[in-house]
Amino acid sequence: MRGVVMYSAGDVRVEEREDPRIVEPTDAIVRLTATCVCGSDLWPYRGIEPADHQVMGHEYVGVVEEIGADVKNVKVGDFVVGSFVISDNTCEICRSGFQSKCVHASFVSQIGTQAEKARIPLADGTLVATPGQPEPELIPSLLAASDVLGTGWFAAVAAQAGPGKSVAVVGDGAVGLMAILAAKQLGAERIIAMSRHPERQALARFYGATDIVEERGDAGVAKIKELTDGMGAHSVVEAVGTQESFMQAVGSTRGGGHLGYVGVNYDVKVPGIELFFAGIHTLGGPAPVRRFLPDLIQLIWDRKIDPGKVFDLTLPLEEAAEGYKAMDERRATKVLLTL
Ligand SMILES: [Zn+2]
Repeated sequence: MRGVVMYSAGDVRVEEREDPRIVEPTDAIVRLTATCVCGSDLWPYRGIEPADHQVMGHEYVGVVEEIGADVKNVKVGDFVVGSFVISDNTCEICRSGFQSKCVHASFVSQIGTQAEKARIPLADGTLVATPGQPEPELIPSLLAASDVLGTGWFAAVAAQAGPGKSVAVVGDGAVGLMAILAAKQLGAERIIAMSRHPERQALARFYGATDIVEERGDAGVAKIKELTDGMGAHSVVEAVGTQESFMQAVGSTRGGGHLGYVGVNYDVKVPGIELFFAGIHTLGGPAPVRRFLPDLIQLIWDRKIDPGKVFDLTLPLEEAAEGYKAMDERRATKVLLTL
């Protein structure tokens, strides 16, 4: 089969890889219908994470081609969406809703779903079948559910976005935009998008943003306070993962408010004393997408949400290198790869 391999930072190639096969009786082989490039794939691309001939990709939708002897919840021919973290969905941590921290968790990025097929371990706990075969126009939205929508949704839930709440979203990448969509669905009253890019501001408004703040850092915090009677937002989502964005998010959260942080961050150091005096709730980390998948799939199926609009560039898998380049240069928010 064909699949993406990152030889080294900036060197993405599509080449012949071995076809996956069932190894454990709990595995499923999925023939992918579409896959995509994640903002977090840019970490190795930019040399911030090491890259040495590694397979890439952790977002996926497709059709089950083969199942192991113990798989019961999905069958051959099912169209499935899976989380970017493998989980059994039965352990105590999974049952508490934190499938991304499952005692048997592993990352799909090690499997590499920027490929024609993938072996998904713990298929019963990881994959969710859609109600039927989706119309082609639903594929991008279902693919978004695999990571960015699920992650943005978790961030909004972690920030306790809801009726009567003000929500500030730091970051206008795909996850930030999905957090706006989630905040809107959860009934937030005011949704403030922090963005400087006209096209992304437009998409933020499409998804439900009521206000746009272009300022960053301390000026951004001041602007959020100005919009929230000097108190800061009830709910803040951090969806970038830099020092500046993280501190901007902490500073924008009101005392007693909630910060949901889902931007993968390297070398961010939060001064303990600032966190101490902020007096806020914080919850973040790799999103337990599996918790939300059944509901998100239904919302997409019923055409109540349209997360697929975050994909602003579609390329065939063979042109994955151009997809990475476009995202690295911020010419694209998120790239869908067709198969
Ligand atoms: Zn588990």
